[in-house]
Amino acid sequence: MPYEAVIGLEIHAELATRSKMFCACPVVDTTVAAPNTAVCPVCAGMPGTLPVVNAAAVEYGLRVALALGCQINPGSIFARKNYFYPDLPKGYQISQYEEPLARNGRITIRTSQGEKTIRIRRVHLEEDTGKLTHAGSGKQAHTLVDLNRAGVPLLEIVTEPDFRSGEEVRIYAQALRSILRYLEVNSGDMQKGVMRIEPNISIRPAVREGGQPAPLGTRVEVKNLNSFRALERATNYEIQRQAAALEAGEVVHQVTVGWDDAKEITVLQRVKEGEDDYRYFPEPDLQPVVVDEAQIARLHAELPELPEARFQRFCTQHGLTEYAAGVLVEEKAVADYFEAAAAANAVVTPKALANWISGELFGLMNQAGVTLDRLLIRAEALAELVQLVEQGKINQATGREVLGEMFRSGKAAGEIVRARGLEQVSDADFITGLVGETLAAYPQEVADYRTGKETLFNWLFGQVMRKAGGRANPQVVRQALSKQLKDTS
Ligand code: ADP
Ligand code: MG
Ligand code: ZN
Repeated sequence: MPYEAVIGLEIHAELATRSKMFCACPVVDTTVAAPNTAVCPVCAGMPGTLPVVNAAAVEYGLRVALALGCQINPGSIFARKNYFYPDLPKGYQISQYEEPLARNGRITIRTSQGEKTIRIRRVHLEEDTGKLTHAGSGKQAHTLVDLNRAGVPLLEIVTEPDFRSGEEVRIYAQALRSILRYLEVNSGDMQKGVMRIEPNISIRPAVREGGQPAPLGTRVEVKNLNSFRALERATNYEIQRQAAALEAGEVVHQVTVGWDDAKEITVLQRVKEGEDDYRYFPEPDLQPVVVDEAQIARLHAELPELPEARFQRFCTQHGLTEYAAGVLVEEKAVADYFEAAAAANAVVTPKALANWISGELFGLMNQAGVTLDRLLIRAEALAELVQLVEQGKINQATGREVLGEMFRSGKAAGEIVRARGLEQVSDADFITGLVGETLAAYPQEVADYRTGKETLFNWLFGQVMRKAGGRANPQVVRQALSKQLKDTS
């Protein structure tokens, strides 16, 4: 029987505020800081301590909610989610439950199947837990607790079950990461676990033409994925596993599973708790989070142009392909760099600029591990190089070479071209002469070409370019070469 997958996502994003959600402890890089050096009685859960809401965390959360087009709750409420675990010193997590910070948002994604809008169910604030490290083995087995992360502000963003494939889920998560980075509320550093993704996956019989969709199937939740690759693979794996189970006449149980990245399988963690198990109740030590119209208006006005709007503008205003626009808008700094280059030079075409940035420049940067903030090539300098190529002052291959030198030395393109005499030669007489010399030097190859070995054309072309030190205009060379090969045959 053909099945349809139904997936909803819960994403936890750390908020990069200076201090924690309910105390003055700094938010530190938990992969670097010495354990338990950013801890106070509040985030250590000592009896008698009281939480105080971090206003900056609320504003970060509101920024995200507004960027996602949510309705803001004028009075959201913190709640206690009770459970016992060694990384949770209070024995409960302060979260939001019945009255979240915001509701009803959306994100537009573009997949191989086209454009799609994913509805966001809720956005709420909570606090992170500590981190456990399991060490030793046998009788020496023990667990280390680091509370540096306990109480770090988290924003949970929950979607409706609108996804139908692993690809859609991955692209949504990448789009959300991009938005969080544009808003400067999260570093997007996946390896550091600042964004954790939990897909809820079920399958149901596919809808037949004109038919009603079947009710939702039983869902399995995959915990704590922190890479897009793992997200896509785990989702696709679960879809296959559930389909096979149903085909075999088994039932899918509502469980929580983990992803084994090495074996590429999901592994049972626990049978899912019901909401009753958490004994949620309103947090008695905190007031509702009151948000007024004026604050919303101010935060709205302060939002940057977001990736989707920028994508549309890059396509229409700059005439970029959807692919090129998508690559450039993902990171704000890259999009800014492209626009600065386009603005600095009215002659150069934005399309060519986009190609040079996403092709050659990214290649050089990746190879050397250089990020945009440390790049020696200023936007207007890149535009100058692209202009020299577009105007035929240097050819494409020379352009790449010049870019390499700009990358290493920070010198201007014109300066490098002048100093090294790299100007492209288009002079027809000169090139005709070079072609003549080349044909005279390789009589055997010329003869083979004429008896039908056509691939030798490119080889002879290469010899002429070599004679010209790579500076000859390739189009002129190609013309002269085919003319002379024809003339004397
Ligand atoms: P929790 O997992 O905390 O109990 P919810 O019940 O609100 O929270 O659901 C969490 C996520 O699971 C949401 O993204 C929702 O869209 C998705 N979801 C709910 N039911 C299903 C289902 N049958 N199949 C797939 N996803 C589902
Ligand atoms: Mg869940
Ligand atoms: Zn603290």
